[in-house]
Amino acid sequence: MSAGVNRQRIQALVAAERESYIARHPESARLAAEAGQHLLFGVPMHWMNDWSTPFPLTVREASGARFRDADGHEYVDFCLGDTGAMFGHAPQPVAQAIARQATRGYTAMLPSEDAGPVAAELARRFGLPCWQFALSASDANRFVLRWLRAATGRSKVLVFNGCYHGTVDDVFVDLVDCVPTQRDSLLGQVHTLTDHTVVVEFNDLPALEAALQQGDIACVLAEPVMTNIGMVLPQPGYWEASQQLIKHYGALLVIDETHTISSGPGGYARAHGMMPDALVIGKPIGGGIPCAAYGFTEELARRVEHAKRSAPPGHSGIGTTLSANMFAMAAMRANLEQVMTEQAYRQMFALAAQLAQGLRDVIARHGLPWCVTQIGARTEFQFTVQPPRNGAEAHDVMDAELEQAIHLYLLNRGLLITPFHNMLLVCPDTTGDDVARLLSAFDGFLADTIQKQI
Ligand code: PMP
Repeated sequence: MSAGVNRQRIQALVAAERESYIARHPESARLAAEAGQHLLFGVPMHWMNDWSTPFPLTVREASGARFRDADGHEYVDFCLGDTGAMFGHAPQPVAQAIARQATRGYTAMLPSEDAGPVAAELARRFGLPCWQFALSASDANRFVLRWLRAATGRSKVLVFNGCYHGTVDDVFVDLVDCVPTQRDSLLGQVHTLTDHTVVVEFNDLPALEAALQQGDIACVLAEPVMTNIGMVLPQPGYWEASQQLIKHYGALLVIDETHTISSGPGGYARAHGMMPDALVIGKPIGGGIPCAAYGFTEELARRVEHAKRSAPPGHSGIGTTLSANMFAMAAMRANLEQVMTEQAYRQMFALAAQLAQGLRDVIARHGLPWCVTQIGARTEFQFTVQPPRNGAEAHDVMDAELEQAIHLYLLNRGLLITPFHNMLLVCPDTTGDDVARLLSAFDGFLADTIQKQI
């Protein structure tokens, strides 16, 4: 037994749930087999095979907080594209904006009329005056690292153990037995990433200061709350002290709000008075249409401009042809102006609080040593009594077997939560009844499988 669960019970449950899934999804099975003839790994994106299901669920359509699969089953979606659809699937204003743009061109290597208003709105929201665009948060992070290395003349970046910032090679360095080590799951990487990436534990101020003291770190790239290894909250005062250290040692702070935009219309940093030098936001910024943005302070913008002007003409390694295309700009404008509103956040916060408290109550009723963390619209349960303080602790309590059993059980009952950890999002279309259904199924899972055996 571990995490308060009986492993044999879990394995028996998973076997039964897999059979039930297979029986309920003949059309998804047929489509997966057909697609598998010409798709590597049978899926358009290799990790789509890593879900808890025997074969991928094929989505037919998605709207608001719901989607329908190819077999006609309806689901309440608490995954919401792992934040890409955090404001609901196909929100009306975005749908209308891209429909309007659909007959007016998509990409021209020139700015559209939406570019100025989008940048102005980003500046208002996030408190940073100068913006650029990318097609994904991965790209935005990659470009920011490049700009900041160029602007500072320093080669190193500092990240936190267990972080994820997209497919940015530089940040795939973990602490293994306190030694910075290239993540061994990273495929085809031939450079020695530890040469230019420094990694320390989150919430460890002495380690951060020791690293910064070397004077060669261009920037710290961080989520303000770690969200990709389960959730790790900053301890009280951590960011205030960290920001002082970063400034003191002449490094820059890049805050990646791609997930923590769940904290409010201006992200976690704005909500908590942080003053980053640069900020990255991807995924939901255009309602799920591929796009991302990054912003700089005035001072950093001047340094970045100087770096660009001082460089010889030619490829900068920053930006891609379709970045800032007209389609993405139209989607961002509609989403920022009409969907990601204060009112939407208020609704989401209230419902997420209900969800988080409900999960805590169910967990307590079953006497399990699990915890629940909520940042705005994002809630995570973890298999530990004490919320983890850093990436190593968060990693140690991850439990793929248990996690997959819960996910599959919920999915078979029409409820989707985020794969690869235990994250649940609510969107403006999620209802109190949806939350009640989720809590009841979660309770059912624990009652059916765990409590009897403890
Ligand atoms: N930053 C953070 C914090 C993320 O969680 C992710 C993806 N999960 C990314 C960046 C990269 O986003 P994308 O995969 O859309 O490039």
